[in-house]
Amino acid sequence: MRVVVVGAGIVGSSVAYEVAKAGAQVTVLEAGKIAGGASGASFAWTNATGKRPHAYFALNVAGMRAHLDLSREFGNAPWFKQTGSLEWYSRPEDWAAQRENADQMMEWGYGVEWISKSRLKELEPEIDLSAVNDSPVVYYPEEGWVDPVLYSAWLLRAAREKWNLAVHTFEGVTSVDVVNGKAKAVRTADGTVYAADAIINCTGSWADRLLDGVPAIPMASNVGVLGFTLPVAATLQRQFHMDDLDVRPDGAGRLMIHKISVDSLVCELTALDPKGNEAALLLDAVRKVIPSVQVQDMESIRTTMRPIPGDNLTCSGWVPGISGYYVAVTHSGVTIAPYLGKAVADEVVRGHVHESLQDFRPDRFLAAKNGMGERS
Ligand SMILES: Cc1cc2nc3c(=O)[nH]c(=O)nc-3n(C[C@H](O)[C@H](O)[C@H](O)COP(=O)(O)OP(=O)(O)OC[C@H]3O[C@@H](n4cnc5c(N)ncnc54)[C@H](O)[C@@H]3O)c2cc1C
Repeated sequence: MRVVVVGAGIVGSSVAYEVAKAGAQVTVLEAGKIAGGASGASFAWTNATGKRPHAYFALNVAGMRAHLDLSREFGNAPWFKQTGSLEWYSRPEDWAAQRENADQMMEWGYGVEWISKSRLKELEPEIDLSAVNDSPVVYYPEEGWVDPVLYSAWLLRAAREKWNLAVHTFEGVTSVDVVNGKAKAVRTADGTVYAADAIINCTGSWADRLLDGVPAIPMASNVGVLGFTLPVAATLQRQFHMDDLDVRPDGAGRLMIHKISVDSLVCELTALDPKGNEAALLLDAVRKVIPSVQVQDMESIRTTMRPIPGDNLTCSGWVPGISGYYVAVTHSGVTIAPYLGKAVADEVVRGHVHESLQDFRPDRFLAAKNGMGERS
């Protein structure tokens, strides 16, 4: 079976790896560089906390477990850090919602521990306890984070070496040839044609751009902003999430900083100044919790589109009316990708329908014209 995967972010790389492992002959076509889209500038926290409805929570938990399996499969996974994460809210009015969420997560079998401030100090001595004050602190031991660029590079390398997968970067797909309701091939900008028995669209936030011949997926993507500090002499090992602030280590002593309120200041993708207003807001927030970070410590600030299907949930399945054309697009893609890769390979190559994806089919966005899309 010949399969073309369009897009080599963390989702496309996972899908390509698993589809090749399942025995297909895989070609990956990527318009830019590997993991150069959202995957290259993602907070990349592997988690399911607060994710609803239950089917979407379960998909995220399956992703977290699949990260562990994949680490074992590789023996050594330099991209994966399962360190757990910490959460607190400084305003007492937020404490009831935090407890309600934690209770729900526990009921659903998720790892949740309430820890004391002295335990927090033991775990992360550089967090200034005055920023925590009397707030209840939750520790989520199963959570972690991923380096998505490394992840993608390792999976594609392994699939090339083991199963002869081919990757073409800087080769964007412009159209899909559909003959009698069956997707037969993709065409790239320079006119090259790649024939395929199945085509899997993993273009993230670009899924709403029309490829000639096939329908687009309605997306509600938005801009995400991440700040990266210079290496700082802080020993933070776990990410923490408090109020409107998310912080985690990012290798070699750098910290990655995110604030939702800063995302909402930036309406379009644009190069931001590491000495500009957005950077100052990120640094001010982190310095209240980790005082060893200095005001001039921002090294870079990146913006990227966060791929979000129109109703905020994963979109994965055959496209109605076009046999052989499959879409796999999701937010929380870093968490979900290794599971999604396996499930998509099962559906596309082995023909097994995955119950776990039944609530997330593209037909909720796209009306069928010629009956449902299906495996060729
Ligand atoms: C700021 C931010 C924070 C985030 N935090 C988290 C988090 O904490 N946890 C989490 O799980 N998720 C998080 N996400 C979401 C997560 O990063 C994404 O869901 C995930 O990276 C999506 O991966 P992808 O492979 O689908 O998309 P992308 O990485 O965007 O890859 C899509 C690829 O398709 C290529 N492409 C597009 N059009 C074409 C074409 N026509 N032909 C060929 N190639 C094409 C693009 O060049 C791109 O490389 C965050 C995202 C952002 C932006």
